[in-house]
Amino acid sequence: MYCPNDGEVPVPDAQLPVVLPPDVPITGEGSPLARDAAFLEVPCPRCGGPARRESDTMDTFFESSWYFVRYLDPHNATAPFERRRVDPWLNVDQYIGGSEHAVLHLLYARFFYKYFHDKGWVGGPDEPFARLFNQGFVLRFGEKMSKSRGNVVGIDETAERNGVDAMRLFLLKATPPEDTMEWSDEGIAGRVRFLDRVWRVAEPLGDRVRAIALDRLPAMASDEARGLVRALHAAFKSGADETRTRRFHYNTTLARLDELVNALTKFPQTGSASDPAFLYAAHALPLALAPFAPHIAEELWHRYGYTTSVHLERWIAPDPAALAVDTIELVIQVNGKIRARFPVAPDIAEPEALALAYADPNVRAHLEGKTLRKQVFVPGKLVNLVVA
Ligand SMILES: [Zn+2]
Repeated sequence: MYCPNDGEVPVPDAQLPVVLPPDVPITGEGSPLARDAAFLEVPCPRCGGPARRESDTMDTFFESSWYFVRYLDPHNATAPFERRRVDPWLNVDQYIGGSEHAVLHLLYARFFYKYFHDKGWVGGPDEPFARLFNQGFVLRFGEKMSKSRGNVVGIDETAERNGVDAMRLFLLKATPPEDTMEWSDEGIAGRVRFLDRVWRVAEPLGDRVRAIALDRLPAMASDEARGLVRALHAAFKSGADETRTRRFHYNTTLARLDELVNALTKFPQTGSASDPAFLYAAHALPLALAPFAPHIAEELWHRYGYTTSVHLERWIAPDPAALAVDTIELVIQVNGKIRARFPVAPDIAEPEALALAYADPNVRAHLEGKTLRKQVFVPGKLVNLVVA
């Protein structure tokens, strides 16, 4: 209670608990208790003069402890939520938040949820969140960006000037999400240029891209065509992998998207607008961009003549046939002279490369009766066996 004479005065133990009035009108504006004189106005326990009760009886953390259950039944006017509506979704598969929530919000949320569970208001596991991921902080001029520090300025202006897509791409690309990152205007400018390139290469194609279906690999008539389709499927594979493993390192997926847009931009101009591989990659590009640059992806999709949302389309399953890289020629030398050649995967490891070398009859003939001094492995190129 607040007394003009005594300041803040605790309610005497004998008067506890303070029971809240059951009939205050809830208008949605401010605290309903602050308008209820019968609750509010009390005699001061010290001086007996008029005092005023505290009307903020709800802790800041109260609603944040169970909002994720209410969100599943948000229009319910007669109850906080109904079990038959929330059970199919709960518990939460993945919680993403900053580590500053670990000791307060998450602790309270867990307490609330276990209470709901004990009461039979929710079913399933009695833990609210199946997995937790702590994202890193965004620094600006070396300081943590936060609403309370008032240094989040820049976000609204940047979004206004460069679009939300460029900002999202910048945030996703700068670092793995668990790391601290530094806000950088240059980084955002880089993403604006990326989106400009996407637009220039894809938008003029219009509905011509739809001549090439996305449910099977296109004809690939050149190394450039194979490289382009490989770059596309590498991007889809990266996105699928980062999601499936809950690693969320979409910065690597965005690096793959950079490579894809490079390959599209550099695709030989002559006849490219009718090359099946080029049209296929351009057709699929909005699907690959959709989770990361949702607005430009949707706009491109509509420029392609679609009337439904790109966000209702399926993620393309990465095709091993598209991802298979061409073989390289591994050269086996003895004392610097070529004695064998093998077609191998470009990323062949040293033990496999050496095993191939020692299994070759011609190489063995040149090693016969000599002492091995050195084995040299140059990844993707050669093995040299030095003997004396
Ligand atoms: Zn008083």
